[in-house]
Amino acid sequence: MAEQKATNVTWHKGLVSRDDRCKILCQSGVTIWFTGLSASGKSTVAVALEEALFERGKLSYRLDSDNVRLGINKDLGFSKEDRKENIRRVGEIAKLFGDAGTISLSSFISPYKSDRDEVRRSHETENIKFVEVFVDCPLSVAEKRDPKGLYKKARAGEIKNFTGIDDPYETPVDPEVHLRTDESTVEEEVTAIMEYLEINKIIEARHLIRADDGNDSAAVGV
Ligand code: ADP
Repeated sequence: MAEQKATNVTWHKGLVSRDDRCKILCQSGVTIWFTGLSASGKSTVAVALEEALFERGKLSYRLDSDNVRLGINKDLGFSKEDRKENIRRVGEIAKLFGDAGTISLSSFISPYKSDRDEVRRSHETENIKFVEVFVDCPLSVAEKRDPKGLYKKARAGEIKNFTGIDDPYETPVDPEVHLRTDESTVEEEVTAIMEYLEINKIIEARHLIRADDGNDSAAVGV
């Protein structure tokens, strides 16, 4: 837990509540947290999910590792302490998005269970839903994909503290959604997350209704 340095600070409440914001957006704020090895497919699934949510009229925003490290976390590296602070800050940003009524899609290796659990706990404290998605893929497959050539560099010793090579990845114990990206398609993975969101009433289910125009084959999503 990061130290609270400033004293005499309290959360300032406005006149518009989270519920008010959510009503305008017709959705509730939620953090969808993708965790897994580099190249397991976190960003790929998040991009596809963002599009699927957009098509359902839902506002989401991707918090992606490199994007965040180019900006707010540009002062952080890959030591255990820096990784912890990276995840803590992203967790805080995700909570703000959740409070704004937005669905945040956070794609971070987030290799340490304690860091992920801390983000989950702080969401629970603020009453913002947290959905952990374990983007599971054997190291051998991730290493073969290696879209950014990072495993190659790590094996050559050009990158230190690389998760899966010379830094640990702590497997989620009880994630809300468990994807096996070596065994399923991106489409199936998006469907699995959508189903979780629907079953748990985080987004409304898409009911199939028969159009009342005598045309039996007409079915529309609502
Ligand atoms: P990460 O964000 O976890 O580092 P990326 O999404 O950047 O991973 O890269 C994953 C790579 O694996 C991409 O090149 C993607 O096309 C590929 N891939 C192959 N099959 C799948 C799948 N079923 N789900 C997700 N990604 C897949």
